[in-house]
Amino acid sequence: MKLSFTQYTLSLKHTFTIATSSRSTTPVMLVEFEHEGIVGYGEASMPPYLGESHETAARFLANVNLEKYESPFLLERILHDIDSLESGNHAAKAAVDIALHDWLGKKLDQPWYRIWGLDLSEIPFTSYTIGIDTPDIVRTKTEEAEAYRVLKVKLGGENDKEMINSIRDVTDKPLRVDANQGWTDRSNALKMIEWLALRNVEIIEQPMPKGQIEDMMWLKEKSPLPLIADESVARLSDIVMAASGFHGINIKLMKCTGLREAHKMILLARSLGLKVMLGCMTETSCAISAAAQLSPLVDWTDLDGSALISNDLFRGASLHNGKMMPSSAPGIGVERIEAII
Ligand code: MG
Repeated sequence: MKLSFTQYTLSLKHTFTIATSSRSTTPVMLVEFEHEGIVGYGEASMPPYLGESHETAARFLANVNLEKYESPFLLERILHDIDSLESGNHAAKAAVDIALHDWLGKKLDQPWYRIWGLDLSEIPFTSYTIGIDTPDIVRTKTEEAEAYRVLKVKLGGENDKEMINSIRDVTDKPLRVDANQGWTDRSNALKMIEWLALRNVEIIEQPMPKGQIEDMMWLKEKSPLPLIADESVARLSDIVMAASGFHGINIKLMKCTGLREAHKMILLARSLGLKVMLGCMTETSCAISAAAQLSPLVDWTDLDGSALISNDLFRGASLHNGKMMPSSAPGIGVERIEAII
């Protein structure tokens, strides 16, 4: 059982600005798991604000020893052991999780949505993300997103109403808003949410900083729109606490260490009556296609990460009628391609 990894840097089509940062590239680590002539692909996407890097991922992955296991089918034990190696390193852990899932699905000759017994007709529309920008660029990006039925808008900057008005100049599509913790005063946050509720906005993601849980409990009682936790929920163990301040959670493979835990998070969230969104980082079609396998189980998907980059290395899940549909190929359903630059 051989695990190998290579660093790669994604080029973003547009400089991407959210309430807390701005960037034009994303470091990723590509992982291959090879056994019995089958190769499983995985990926760690590491936006710098989350603390992982090419260096941390290389160091962590060098310590992953799969040789000691009898079979890759011992997935629960293997992933538990990898998680126990060190705290953090969520994206690096996700890369191994995705590669093992890809390998197992290929060995079984089935895509994961079929192994999990899911119905692709239940996949919701995915959104396309518009970062914080000037009105002209916001209008251009909105027009570029023509194939998408829903847009996700980054707010929490200085020009929130201008952003929304610029988009509304061009389209009346439903919007999902992500404030990325940018609203620190709860009364102002409520006023903004009430204003947005009149403008065909579906949900509000992470309106306030993750430490302000009491303000979130106050806001949840009064908000006319569902509030979705992103920065407040990384892993399974964060969900119970977040349930008091949010109506739902945004699950991302890179936050939660991969498909195994993401699946468990969906089940726990449902048992607590929470809504579920499935999101992503900027990443190649490798990690996007892995996430797409789970998408029949969620209320909203935001799987546009591979659409935001110009040097994808995989072909897999693709946009059909506004939905990010997995391919019917086994595993996570991807094939490796040469980057088109
Ligand atoms: Mg978010």
